[in-house]
Amino acid sequence: MKQVIRKAFKFKLNPNSDQAQKMVEFAGANRFVWNKALAKNLTLLEYKKPILWYQEMNFWLGLWKKSNEYGFLKQAHSQSLQQTLKQLERAFKNGFDKKQPLKRIPRFKRKGQKDSFSYPQGFKLDGNSVFLPKIGWVKYRSSRKVVGELKNCTVSRRGKHWYVSVQVEYEAEIPRHSANSIIGLDLGVKRFITLSDGSYIEPINSFKKLEKKLAFAQRRLSKKVKFSSNWKKQKQRIARLHEKIANVRLDFLHKTSTSISKNHAMIVVEDLKVRNMSKSAKGNIDKPGKNVKPKSGLNKSILDQGWGMFVQMLEYKQNWFGGDVLRVDPRHTSQTCPKCQNISRANRKTQSAFACTECGFKANADLVGALNVLARGHRVLACGVETLVSTLKQEPVGSSDTRPLLNGLKLLGIPVL
Ligand SMILES: [Zn+2]
Repeated sequence: MKQVIRKAFKFKLNPNSDQAQKMVEFAGANRFVWNKALAKNLTLLEYKKPILWYQEMNFWLGLWKKSNEYGFLKQAHSQSLQQTLKQLERAFKNGFDKKQPLKRIPRFKRKGQKDSFSYPQGFKLDGNSVFLPKIGWVKYRSSRKVVGELKNCTVSRRGKHWYVSVQVEYEAEIPRHSANSIIGLDLGVKRFITLSDGSYIEPINSFKKLEKKLAFAQRRLSKKVKFSSNWKKQKQRIARLHEKIANVRLDFLHKTSTSISKNHAMIVVEDLKVRNMSKSAKGNIDKPGKNVKPKSGLNKSILDQGWGMFVQMLEYKQNWFGGDVLRVDPRHTSQTCPKCQNISRANRKTQSAFACTECGFKANADLVGALNVLARGHRVLACGVETLVSTLKQEPVGSSDTRPLLNGLKLLGIPVL
């Protein structure tokens, strides 16, 4: 069985001054087009009129290019400007999509913030330089060989430097996972992950130290005169800390997901989307029934992001190794007794202790969560492929629709219907 794999390669560009100037101009033109079309749509929304979609926006783009006022747009590559309009259309669609509660109506872009532009085609690669239409051959620092069919490329700036990210597609044989075990995971705060085999992984300690440092740095910033040179220096210090925290987290997530992925052919996790939704809809004593914001605070948000990222990593790593990830309904996983199936809030004595009020089964509460997740995974698998297919709605990034599901079932010795 073969599958299509999508992959992105990112390299640091080494443009000459003329090319760098053009990149600044192109990013500027794309930002201008984004903001201009966005402003038009926001005005339409304000007057409760239907907004412009790509075709109409593109019509306007043509007019702007012909005008004296915005004639500078002609210098930029026209397909990259169109690409920006397509991205804006996508952003609006996401913003209106009720299934994506975290998406918002798109925002204006500011200079120096995510400066970028994309080419849907017309670019070429030759080992250590990339041909960008209307800019020319730009050298880049080659760290890996690009393999696969070129799909599109994005040029972006981070700090002083420009980068190119090239998306490719290729077909590959699905590997066979070397393990044949199935495991359930519980994602928690105190223990980052608890596995149904009883082992667990704690959140990283260095993280807490960095968080304290960050809080301290932010307090110091608030005492400085805004926009003074000391204030700016402190701002930079905070930006560096944020980057460091992100790197530490990424490293931790990678190491953890790789080791779990290598050891288990089938990994069952809670469906985070369902979990977040049911949590926020429940409300609390102060505001019953209303959409309550999840606990604020840096720690919580980092954890949330961390779990999402972690599951995504598991998914694509399972793809590499020929295993699979199964998402199951997360409801009541912490209140159900794995032994007698009695569901009660009273089973949860404390945050960490589970004791069944019916049969007396006792265990760590996170382990109970992991055991229930595993049991649900087994149930879904036992129901056959039909039910399984429904779990595929949430495509992991970077994989195609031919996931190694059947392969995973066979690995576990489960008969495929
Ligand atoms: Zn029980």
